[in-house]
Amino acid sequence: MELSAQIDQYKKEIEAFAGENGEAAETFRIKYLGTKGIVKNIMQEMKNVPADKKKEAGQLLNSFKQFAEAKYETLKQLSAISHQPSAKNIDYTLPGDDITIGTRHPLSIVRSQIISIFSRLGFILAEGPEIEDDWHNFTSMNMPENHPARDMQDTFYVQKNPDWLLRTHTSSVQARVMEKQKPPIRIICPGRVYRNETISARAHCFFHQVEGLYVAENVSFADLKQTLYFFVREMFGKDAKIRFRPSYFPFTEPSAEMDIDCLICHGKGCNVCKHTGWVEILGSGMVHPNTLKNFDIDPEIYTGFAFGMGIERICQLKYRVNDLRLYSQDDVRFLKQFAGVV
Ligand SMILES: [Zn+2]
Repeated sequence: MELSAQIDQYKKEIEAFAGENGEAAETFRIKYLGTKGIVKNIMQEMKNVPADKKKEAGQLLNSFKQFAEAKYETLKQLSAISHQPSAKNIDYTLPGDDITIGTRHPLSIVRSQIISIFSRLGFILAEGPEIEDDWHNFTSMNMPENHPARDMQDTFYVQKNPDWLLRTHTSSVQARVMEKQKPPIRIICPGRVYRNETISARAHCFFHQVEGLYVAENVSFADLKQTLYFFVREMFGKDAKIRFRPSYFPFTEPSAEMDIDCLICHGKGCNVCKHTGWVEILGSGMVHPNTLKNFDIDPEIYTGFAFGMGIERICQLKYRVNDLRLYSQDDVRFLKQFAGVV
């Protein structure tokens, strides 16, 4: 048979070859383009072609080879398309994948509850830097250099002379407000604070505080008691009881620590209240005249009260969290337990 007639015959076969999957494409490749395939086989015919016909025959064979390769590419594309899901293959009635939604951190929940309660009494939110200078953190708070109370609040120093440190309480925010604003001042200062403590279930090198300050004319200890009593009833329920114990803070005089009756044993005695029936939740007192004077506020005209509490402590009592370290371990098993809290 003539070479050209043979090629025409194969071309007809190739054109008729049908198939839409990978298997069909592979069968085609082996039959026509494989090492023992038809294309290779017919190339052998070149040696039988007389010299004067070689050019013509070469062109013919090359175009046949390209023809077979083009068909193979078409078959491969058809098989790729047939494997993609088409709109008609999708079942829109199947349930979708769950979207996992994060939850608020327990400290954020309690922080906003505290802010919300005090804002109803007219306290305004105030915030300040976590890296503070000595004046705002210690000296202006009636804790001059070498004052023994500084030992209770050892912290991390970023720089010495002049001293820059991680604030030990949010009283530094009170200082920043008092130096800019004249009374009446009624602020609530939440924020992260730092202490040089060994990390354990009961202590951490950082924790969160909310402090409050009210300075105006005729502010008395009775105002302090009533404000904090309101807070406790809002936070822990209307049956919560409070008591004050005399205490010492350099920036308040007189000073008191406030306890609430133990929510776990209701006064009978348990491990949380160390069998006393009472749990300490905050420190408070009337602002020391020296502190007011440091900000050019005349203590003969103005008086004020201040208080401070640890958010972790309130959270521990409210949600019975017995290990401080849980708050910063990012353990999803712990955090997702607060998913339902609003
Ligand atoms: Zn108890």
